[in-house]
Amino acid sequence: MKIIDVEAVALEVPMKERIAAPISMPRAADVEQVVFGAYRSTLVFITTDDGVTGVGECMTRLSGTALRDIVHYVKPILIGRDPRDVELIWDILWAVMMNRGHVMGFYQEAMAGIDCALWDVWGKSAGVPVWRLLGGKTNPKLWAYASSLRLRAIEVLRDEIDRHKDAGFNAMKIKIGKDPMNWREELKTVEAIRKHAGDDITLMADVNCGYSHDLKTALEVGRALQEYNLYWYEEPLAPDDIDGYAYLRDHLDIRIATGEADFNKNSFARFFKRDAMDICQPDAARTAGITETRKIVDMANAFRVLYAPHTGSSSALIMSVSLHLATYAPNFLIYEYMQSDWNKTERNPLRWDLCEIPIKEFKDSHIVIEDKPGFGVEINMEVVEKYRLP
Ligand SMILES: [Mg+2]
Repeated sequence: MKIIDVEAVALEVPMKERIAAPISMPRAADVEQVVFGAYRSTLVFITTDDGVTGVGECMTRLSGTALRDIVHYVKPILIGRDPRDVELIWDILWAVMMNRGHVMGFYQEAMAGIDCALWDVWGKSAGVPVWRLLGGKTNPKLWAYASSLRLRAIEVLRDEIDRHKDAGFNAMKIKIGKDPMNWREELKTVEAIRKHAGDDITLMADVNCGYSHDLKTALEVGRALQEYNLYWYEEPLAPDDIDGYAYLRDHLDIRIATGEADFNKNSFARFFKRDAMDICQPDAARTAGITETRKIVDMANAFRVLYAPHTGSSSALIMSVSLHLATYAPNFLIYEYMQSDWNKTERNPLRWDLCEIPIKEFKDSHIVIEDKPGFGVEINMEVVEKYRLP
């Protein structure tokens, strides 16, 4: 079997109305216009001489056309190769830019789309799901949480919590950290959420790097979250602040979760060696695909670090890809099951219409994955054509 074609497609769904940043990243108000002005994704389609086509996704937070161009630049490396040689192809792609400083960022996100498409091809051609290729169905049922509650009036939040409970969720995540100077006010809402949700609901808090300028605030908030029995404390600091995370993990009982903004096994290894996290959250659309994410997850296992895949606000494709990794990983903890879009009034068609996520059953907050070949998804090409960038 040989690769005969590689095509990347940049997708963009512009928002009609400008929205405020839905997360608490530093300088959010200054960057929201460019980062949160559209829903974006870049898909990679790889076709073989056997007539099999696989698809992967590159996480796209800014320029889909840049990612598309990178994929097309490396296309000559892929043509003629056996798509099942995922390790070899990954290593060649890595070699293109690793000694030029591109070990993070756009290049890894472009590699992610290529690598995932290769695994989809392999699964489809073998007639087995990708989780089978990874090592089988270690986790027949996948615990899942609703992502995410944003801090607003408690009356609104109560309805949202009830909706998630009615849908079957027993775990949900709260976005905090929008106003680092005013965290005590935010924590009052967290307390009200805990009170309404009840003690049986697992709650987590996600800061999206909101306290990256102030370690002591991060520490104080972490202590307060412990009072409300939150399960984990996600990304309080900058993604590469290993010292800061190691400090927080030393000083807090609440589990520290991070990794959605990290890119490769070497940087994760530095965190593991410092005992700087309890839960790792690589996103296969960012960490250079399934091949690299599996290495990160396996390495995490050796350091007693649990795996909770990040899916975030990408498309339904990476949500599907992550289910396969979750089904395989012995140290899998819980799956991020996205229930909200950045924009309350404009839904994301890449999340809801691009493909069906291969979920056979969702009951008691647990997902059972389909047994279909590859990722088990069929891309809706009408959505692709409607939103593709020229
Ligand atoms: Mg997060």
